[in-house]
Order: sequence, then C-alpha cells, then structure tokens
Amino acid sequence: MISPAPGDELSSAALDTMLEETRALVRIPTVSADAGPAMRTGADAVAGLLGARGFDVSLLGTPTHPLVAGRRLVDPSLPTILVYGHYDVQPVGRLEDWHSAPFDPVVRDGRLHGRGTADSKGQLVAAVAGIDLAHRLGAPPCNVVLIADGEEEIGSPNLAATCTQHRDLLAADLVMAVDGSIHPSGRPVLALGARGLLCLELVATDQRVPLHSGNFGGAVPSPADRIARALVALGSPDGALAPPLAADAVTPTGDVLALVDALPAPELPDGVPARPAAEHYRRILLHPTFNVSSMEAGYTGPGFATTIPTSARARVDARLVPDQDPERLAQQVRDRLQELGIDVEVRMLARMPPTSTTPLDSASAAVTAALEQAYGRPPVVLPRLAGTVPVSILSDLLGVPAMVVPHGNPDQNNHAPNENLVIGQLRRAAEAMARTVRCPGLG
Ligand SMILES: [Zn+2]
Repeated sequence: MISPAPGDELSSAALDTMLEETRALVRIPTVSADAGPAMRTGADAVAGLLGARGFDVSLLGTPTHPLVAGRRLVDPSLPTILVYGHYDVQPVGRLEDWHSAPFDPVVRDGRLHGRGTADSKGQLVAAVAGIDLAHRLGAPPCNVVLIADGEEEIGSPNLAATCTQHRDLLAADLVMAVDGSIHPSGRPVLALGARGLLCLELVATDQRVPLHSGNFGGAVPSPADRIARALVALGSPDGALAPPLAADAVTPTGDVLALVDALPAPELPDGVPARPAAEHYRRILLHPTFNVSSMEAGYTGPGFATTIPTSARARVDARLVPDQDPERLAQQVRDRLQELGIDVEVRMLARMPPTSTTPLDSASAAVTAALEQAYGRPPVVLPRLAGTVPVSILSDLLGVPAMVVPHGNPDQNNHAPNENLVIGQLRRAAEAMARTVRCPGLG
C-alpha cells in the first residue's frame, strides 16, 4: 500500500484544529517585556498543546519565562532535528492603531488577525501539527525535539544557560527555526543560518548644569558633539559598519556569492533606494551593518533653547556575519573610541552571534524538496537570514548547523499593529514540516 503524502492528511478538520489552537494561544497576552502572569499561562498552554499531540513535555525554568521542550523520539540511533520556535510576543503599541483587539483574534479576509498570530504562535502550532502528522503516517526516519522560547522578543537572555543546563535533553544533529516571512513572490524561504546582532547604547554626560550657548559656547564642549563624533567613527554613510570594525567579517566564498546573485528581485517599500538585486542582497546578507536607531540630546520642545546640553545618548545596532563575535565587537568599539579620544560610555543592550556553520547539502536538499512539495514552488535559498533569530546559541552549543524555515506571510505586520497570518500558511507550514520530518537524509 502506498502511504499517503503528508499534505493529503491535512483535512479541513485538521486545519480547523490548527486555527483553534492558534487562536487559543493568541488569546494569552504573552508579552515577554511585560513579564506578567500570562507568560506562565502561555508556557502551560504550549506544554498542553505538545502533550495533546503526543510529545513528552518538559517545562525548563529560567530566571524569567519558562522554555517549553517537547520530544518525539523514534530511535536514538536516528538523527534528531531540534525545532526552535517562540511563544512570547512583542508589546502591542497604541490600541487605537489596531482594527480589532490584539488579543481577541478574528478572521478577516482569509487572515487571522492578532498579536502573535504570525510571530510566531501560528508557526509554532503548524510545526507541532506537522510533526504529529509525520508520526501518524508511520515512524519517521528521525527524532524531533521542539523547544518554544518565552524570551525571544527580549533577546533570549537565558536561552544559552538553560540549554547548556539541559543539553542532554536537546541533543540534535540539526537546528531548524520556524519564524519569519516567506519571500514576497510567494515562494518559501530556506535560510542557511542567520545574521547576528549587537545593540549598544552610547552615553555622554557632563557633570554641570545646562549652559547658555552664547555665554559659554566655544569654551565648553557639548556631549552631543561627542555622540555625533562617535557615530561618524563607527558607521559609514551607506549604513555599513566602519571598515576598522569589520575586519572579522569573512570574505564571502564564490558559492555564497553565486547563491546571492541568483536571488529573485526584492520588492522594496517606498523610499528604499533602487539598486541591482544582487547589490541589495549583498548589502543585507553578506556584510556587517551599522544603524543608529535613536538619538537624544538637549531641549526638543516647542520653540528652541540655545543651551549646551548636559547629556546625550544614541542607541545603535550592528547586524553581524561570520566570524564576527558581538562581545569582541563591543570591545573593538570601546577601543576605537578611546583611540580617537572620544569620551563616550558604551553600554551593551543585546547581543547574538551569527551562525557560523552551514547545513549539510543532504539536509538542505531534503528541506528544499519538502518546501517545494508543500508550496508547489521551489524555495528561495538564502546563505543566511538578514534578520536575527537565536539559533546560533543552539548551533554553537550543540556544535551542529542551523537553518531557518519561515512561514509567515511577508505582510504579517509583525511587531506592528494589525499583525496577521494568512490562514493558508498554517497548511503549508504543517505540510512542509511533516514532509521534512519524513524525509530521509537529514542530520
Ligand atoms: Zn518577533
């Protein structure tokens, strides 16, 4: 007898179940930045979902929100995939910007609207359903461990320590994150890793009162000037990291350049400079970047004040590529500013290394085939995700490669008002996961 393809098993009842499971999770306001009791409720709900789908469940405590782990083992001698997702969400912002209440999910125009629908509760539900489906079709050729992070939206500060503590439970041959968006063309995406991140705050403070710029200007330096000089020293006008700080970035190999140069043309929002596609992708995928995300100094209210301020600060972020290390880069920033005589305090806000290994050809081919079958179109293969997901922590800890397989719609409005998930993505995501798990050659 020919066993049915995973997609054939995704009946409309199965889709309704996934939709209800997603709705139930979205109703729990798991805003990790708020650290309220909903976080524990959310963790328990994910644990319940995993238990109902036949996983062995553990709730791993952290100093903040629990990490939920579910194991679906077949045979210890088979390869194991570690699937990473998260159940926490970003704050909702101004309620008046939402067309419906963020934690009361509603279906409109074929989409489920609500905070966390696409980022990433729907994707988590689909992954769990896909793994379950793969098992219901007969023992698959790999083991699966799924973890759901409760701290992703606050930079996963305890993920490394928690996973180190429970390393035996999480042992795997390949890490796969399910988060992010498919390509605007509708094709699925397979990213062979992710860029890293360093967020810093630069602070300049002078111990004096604000002074009249006519009476004291020219005799008293401004801390805002120091911040401006620091920003010029750290970045380039085109948004790249200044060359002295980018020395650890590896030169892309011919294979990686070929992958990037073959990518389909991006769809760019208004105001983004039009460039040849290859140049656009090289900038966002292959090179470290430097962004000034906020600046603050002096009086900015009605009218104006000709005052020399007493303090100034800026927040900056750099996206990192192999072999950059965020800790080392933070020290390089401090050293560079000191070398230039710019007296600015450098505070670390967040850090995540880039992934440093690439999945084996066999694993990439297996996931490529699964995605092509689920979407009816081949995936866009990226050398790494331009954004940052915390897979490098797992990849480095376990010494195995990591990939990112996103299923959110490109217009999901994640982190913004009116977040939504195209409901059909639940089916495609679950089918892709089921086919991946059933595919020999992983690990
Ligand atoms: Zn997010």
